[in-house]
Amino acid sequence: MKISQIEVFPLNLPMKQNFSISSGSVGSQQEGAPHVYVKITSDSGFEGWGECRPSHRWSYETQESVVTTINHYIKPVLLGENPEDLEAISLKMNKQIASGIAHGQPIAKAAIDMALHDLIGKHTGRRLSDLWFGTFKNEIELSYLISTNDPEEAYKKAEYAKNNGYLGVDVKVGLDPKKDIKIVEAVKEAAPELFFRVDANQAYNFPQAVRLASAMENIGVDVFEQPLSAGDLVGHAGLRRKTSIPIALDESVWTPENMTQALRLEACDIVVIKVTKMGGLRKAKLCGEIAKAANVGLLGGGLTESSLALTASAHLFNYLDIKTPVDLNGPIFLADDPVEYGPKINDGTVELPDGYGIGCSISMDKINSFQVKK
Ligand SMILES: [Mg+2]
Repeated sequence: MKISQIEVFPLNLPMKQNFSISSGSVGSQQEGAPHVYVKITSDSGFEGWGECRPSHRWSYETQESVVTTINHYIKPVLLGENPEDLEAISLKMNKQIASGIAHGQPIAKAAIDMALHDLIGKHTGRRLSDLWFGTFKNEIELSYLISTNDPEEAYKKAEYAKNNGYLGVDVKVGLDPKKDIKIVEAVKEAAPELFFRVDANQAYNFPQAVRLASAMENIGVDVFEQPLSAGDLVGHAGLRRKTSIPIALDESVWTPENMTQALRLEACDIVVIKVTKMGGLRKAKLCGEIAKAANVGLLGGGLTESSLALTASAHLFNYLDIKTPVDLNGPIFLADDPVEYGPKINDGTVELPDGYGIGCSISMDKINSFQVKK
């Protein structure tokens, strides 16, 4: 089998809810959300689909950079290559786009890697779990994302999560540090039984993080995620020694090399696995396996991708045996996407498609209607 075509579709997907993190807006009802879909066709007549969701608030990768990187640099070296040799393809992509502090442009590369997994699965008649010699699971539980600086709204959202069958909440803090404790208290009061993940997205300095962690110990929080800046592994290691709340790293761990470094410095109790952040399924799986071998816990997350990447990620999280509700929250924010047949999302529970590759089918009509017109 050879790669015969790579097509890139920049999409603007409609949002039904605004979404902000401590660094600012990553999509709104007014402006929609930037996504990129990639279609890879083989000379055997099969096609694979991949997706990524860039945002300039998360990293330097933008929708524009993903499109030009794939079209101008990655596509020319992958046409004619064997799509089943994922190691050779990864080396080719990394030679074309060299590293920054992490692997260069992992988000763009993730869409290619995902489309290749889909293509290989379709070509060989296997699901993602079969490619990994894992057991297929047809369900995954989602956590409910709460991102607001209003404690009353946080209470209402936590109550909604509890009443609609969600088993966990993921609460963004650091939007207004003065209100963080009130937000965390409100969520705990409304939904005391739910798995409680608090994500600061690098908002704090060390003394602030120690103070908040100490207050959250009394409230009862299950995980404190990425309180300090991504590069501050030593700070996270220090914070671990000052609190009993497990510390999770997200933005600090983009690569297997970052994962290894975090382990050497004892900087985390838990790591957040995300397919697009980690450059695709292959590298995300490796990060997860390294962490598991070191007895570090895993959380599943995403960058608010649509249901294509949600499904691919969910299959990986099931393979990695992640038991806590995962933060694949794209559908909470998106009003629609190009997936025609795919996951069935019933509030907190997702029924996953049982088909070859990722298992989703894509509507070209919807790709065309959401495509960004130049
Ligand atoms: Mg996070």
